[in-house]
Amino acid sequence: MTKQTLSFQAEVAQLLHLVTHSLYSNKEIFLRELISNASDACDKLRFEAINDGGLYENDTELKVKVSFDKDAKTLTITDNGIGMSTQEAIDHLGTIAKSGTKDFVSKLSGDQKADSQLIGQFGVGFYSGFIVADKITVESRRAGMKADEGVRWISGGAGDFEVENITRAERGTSVILHLRDDSMDYASAWKVKGIINKYSDHISLPILMEKEEWKDGELINPSDENGGRQPGAMVKTGEWETVNKANAIWARAKKDITQEQYDEFYKQISHDFEAPLAHTHNRVEGSTEYTQLLYIPGKAPMDLYNREKSAGVKLYVKRVFIMDDAEALLPTYLRFVKGVVDSSDLPLNVSRELLQESRDVKAIREGCTKRVLGMLEDLAKNDKLPEATTTAEGVTDVVSEEGKAEAAANAGKYTKFYNEFGAVLKEGLGEDYANKDRIAKLLRFSSSISDAASVSFADYKARMKEGQEAIYYITADNAAAAKNSPQLEVFKKKGIEVLLMTDRVDEWALNYLQDFDGTPLQSVAKGAVDLGKLQDETEKKAAEEAAETFKPMLAKLKEALKDKAEDVRVTTRLVDSPACLVVQDHGMSTQLARMLKQAGQAAPDVKPVLEVNAEHPLVKKLDGSVHFNDLAHILFDQALLAEGGLPADPAAYVKRVNALLV
Ligand code: ADP
Ligand code: MG
Repeated sequence: MTKQTLSFQAEVAQLLHLVTHSLYSNKEIFLRELISNASDACDKLRFEAINDGGLYENDTELKVKVSFDKDAKTLTITDNGIGMSTQEAIDHLGTIAKSGTKDFVSKLSGDQKADSQLIGQFGVGFYSGFIVADKITVESRRAGMKADEGVRWISGGAGDFEVENITRAERGTSVILHLRDDSMDYASAWKVKGIINKYSDHISLPILMEKEEWKDGELINPSDENGGRQPGAMVKTGEWETVNKANAIWARAKKDITQEQYDEFYKQISHDFEAPLAHTHNRVEGSTEYTQLLYIPGKAPMDLYNREKSAGVKLYVKRVFIMDDAEALLPTYLRFVKGVVDSSDLPLNVSRELLQESRDVKAIREGCTKRVLGMLEDLAKNDKLPEATTTAEGVTDVVSEEGKAEAAANAGKYTKFYNEFGAVLKEGLGEDYANKDRIAKLLRFSSSISDAASVSFADYKARMKEGQEAIYYITADNAAAAKNSPQLEVFKKKGIEVLLMTDRVDEWALNYLQDFDGTPLQSVAKGAVDLGKLQDETEKKAAEEAAETFKPMLAKLKEALKDKAEDVRVTTRLVDSPACLVVQDHGMSTQLARMLKQAGQAAPDVKPVLEVNAEHPLVKKLDGSVHFNDLAHILFDQALLAEGGLPADPAAYVKRVNALLV
């Protein structure tokens, strides 16, 4: 076949024009695209060689070589992959076969700015070479074809290209970029290596570059960068070295990877010195194909609570690095997870915007979320050492020695995780409706009978009193305030456990959890306490009677406190304290309102309900007291103090107390 000139398909010409005119801001991606093609070509050879080993032509070491020639102004990417026949070169490099690309081109408006944004979202592939080259020569020979069946393809990136038949001994493809004058900086080993490190370290194929040495005696000015050597003073040594790490750990089979290797990779991507608590590594097949390698760190980063900087998962597409911190791959409440997702379906130039909308990404996100929750469930399950078991035959300990060692290694990991990340996990109750129940099972709290924050809702339920119908909890600013809150008095007296919630997010998160496994959650500071069956008949009757006789007093108190309290009523929740504040059943708690205000956020002015203990001497004294008004206010303000709040007018409070003391 002699040389022939062919026209690009109309869409290609359009795309080319755009590539060369609008991708200047991100020039270096051309190398990522071309190396990715080389890697694809090797993958294809490997695949076809499964049925036809002859395709290897006795050269099984697949690799990519990158070289440059300053004088000729060329940068060349060579692979020994599958190669192209003449017809394939014409078809693959002259037309757009992929329907996605056609769609894409049809969306182009001709408005350069809008289009360049669009193109940023799309893999421009081979044509990205024209960002830095004003001419590209491709020389190739398909594996298995004769040496004289090679092809040379040349184009200046305008309307047409030339193809001719050549003789090429080596199988595979060389893409020779004739660099534009403004892109000559890519004819530098330092620059090219940097780009390879950034994007292609985890391409499993070795990427080779020719070693260079400083030419002696060319020191110009020792204080310059380069140690005073001119970049031009480098000479090639003829030796080739691998410049990428060529190790995509996640692309390897699980059985070939040691724990140390998993840990090492984690340290590399997380910059953490400690080993992670757990990892999960899976290849997911089906309508969306991807590999995930995700880790649970043992320590929270400084900026954990910054929801803005919120992701630790790197996105790769076919082992080519795309972006760090791809927040679309996991929900925000799992922002502590580190790792890699490698998709086979996304385009290489996928943007953050596109990620948010992609159906594939949605599937990946769901899959990753499930895996992470699964990891946490495993950690939680193994947090405590198994208790020795005695069987009917009197054999103690059915756990093997190995099993014991493993159990010992895993024990305490969940506690560690929870101390670091528990508060963040709780955000999931509000953020991830679909997994709400799984998240709820993973939560741990301290309680009125357990100082360690290790009580799960399930533990609590298992200890519930006969006749108890709700899971009781209290929210407070800190553990001491929670534990000593007057609102707990009746629960303590009756021996009913109350969960103590002292994380800032608790109040908000619990809004989203009405019940656990069918048992309602009930704040002890909200609504009237209805201990239901836990109260016996005499207690109920006594309370009713007290309320009745106390009625006139309540009316007076209500009047005195009408600016502060929504209502005043007789309580059944207090034993030792005279009064406490509660909010209406579905109202925002005073604690949350206080927190919001402290954070400078708008919070409704919640007027709490004052509940008074009719049995308390102070309350009894109210009747007929000449200081009734002062006592009423003191009662209210003290109730506020007891739950960690401050009287609206502290000076007035002090004055009243002092007046009484005197
Ligand atoms: P994509 O890689 O997404 O298919 P590209 O524009 O990057 O799109 O490449 C277009 C096509 O050209 C590839 O699908 C492949 O058939 C062919 N091609 C490109 N580079 C090579 C190469 N180094 N070896 C073999 N074929 C190649
Ligand atoms: Mg490509």
